[in-house]
Amino acid sequence: MAADKHSGFATRAIHYGYDPLEEQGALTPPMHVTSTFAFDSAEQGAARFAGEEAGHFYSRISNPTVELLEKRMAALEGAEAALGFASGMGAITALMWSFLRPGDELIADTTLYGCTHAFFNHGLTEFGIKVRHVDLSDPANLEAAISEKTKMVYFETPANPTMDLVDIEAVSTIAKKHGARVAVDNTYATPVNTRPIELGADFVAHSATKYLGGHGDLVAGVLLGSEEDMFHVRLTGLKDFTGAVMSPFTAFLLMRGLKTLEVRMERQERNAMEVARWLEAQPMVKKVYYPGLESFPQHELAKKQMHGFSAIMAFDVEGGVEAGRTLMNSLQMIRRAVSLGDAESLIQHPASMTHSVLSPEERAEHGISDDLVRLSVGLETPADIIADLQQAFDKIDQKVDLRKAG
Ligand SMILES: *Cc1c(COP(=O)(O)O)cnc(C)c1O
Repeated sequence: MAADKHSGFATRAIHYGYDPLEEQGALTPPMHVTSTFAFDSAEQGAARFAGEEAGHFYSRISNPTVELLEKRMAALEGAEAALGFASGMGAITALMWSFLRPGDELIADTTLYGCTHAFFNHGLTEFGIKVRHVDLSDPANLEAAISEKTKMVYFETPANPTMDLVDIEAVSTIAKKHGARVAVDNTYATPVNTRPIELGADFVAHSATKYLGGHGDLVAGVLLGSEEDMFHVRLTGLKDFTGAVMSPFTAFLLMRGLKTLEVRMERQERNAMEVARWLEAQPMVKKVYYPGLESFPQHELAKKQMHGFSAIMAFDVEGGVEAGRTLMNSLQMIRRAVSLGDAESLIQHPASMTHSVLSPEERAEHGISDDLVRLSVGLETPADIIADLQQAFDKIDQKVDLRKAG
């Protein structure tokens, strides 16, 4: 039986939208590396431009390899349609340029990916769009803040880097009542764990650079929504306003990543749980932020809204920034790098790296302390991840002991 929308998640991720027998039996979908497409007549060219005839004409608008990736992503997110982008920021900016106009209001969560925060506050606001930050981890805050000017509500769940969750269903219900659309950045959870459109959201944005690609070898974004909305974004936000188009080569790599998305997530989450429990037991760790832990304030919501808990966590190290720096510099296998969702475990310091575009006041307001360290747990053997952290914690210990002695 051929894979359709009702097949299991992994089956859709591997087979959806492709029949090898239509491509000379090629098991792997071919890559259509072309910028333009030849018409069989002037009339056909005109019909394609007028939208009277389906078919490709220029790869900034559509490309067969990217189109297959888009169909597959839509099938995985339970969306009508998807669009591929050159980056996650490409997807997020194209969405906003396509739907917001001067005088409109965007309500965004308080905790956001650094560049998204910068785009909203230094980009959109300079073009007359009002941006208000509201802590959406409590939906009642939205009810109090929303008005008829609000056209879009935007959030990440879990939110980068503190892992705060937003109740997608509750927020979508409130937004709908007031005529606002809801956009969810689903980068952290992935469609394996959360499918926001099924919970009432209008749009899903992804940095496909992270778990979807999964191998740290590409930069890409995906936007999902209704057929009508994605058609609008394709012809405005993507084609004319940003031009942030995904290349066929990236779509090809991304489809390779998607084939193992579910198994990678399951294994990565198992590793993360082990690491989180270990971290929680360390005397030098003040607090661990991971939705899978019973100590996580929104653990009940995590269980309700997420299938698994993903594999990113943050923790505060006793001893502040200096201890955090010693920890990071002492690691031998875990890589000091931004990004997340790769096979390699990656560690970074939000205050000086991903969230350094925020002022110290903004960081405090967004719950990002200076000693917060973010860890993306990879696919290595968990005992080795823990052993690397252990030897790094020992180095902080030695420094403290030396200071006491001297
Ligand atoms: C990385 C990231 C982005 C930006 O995506 P790029 O692919 O780097 O442009 C947006 N949102 C979240 C949550 C991210 O982690």
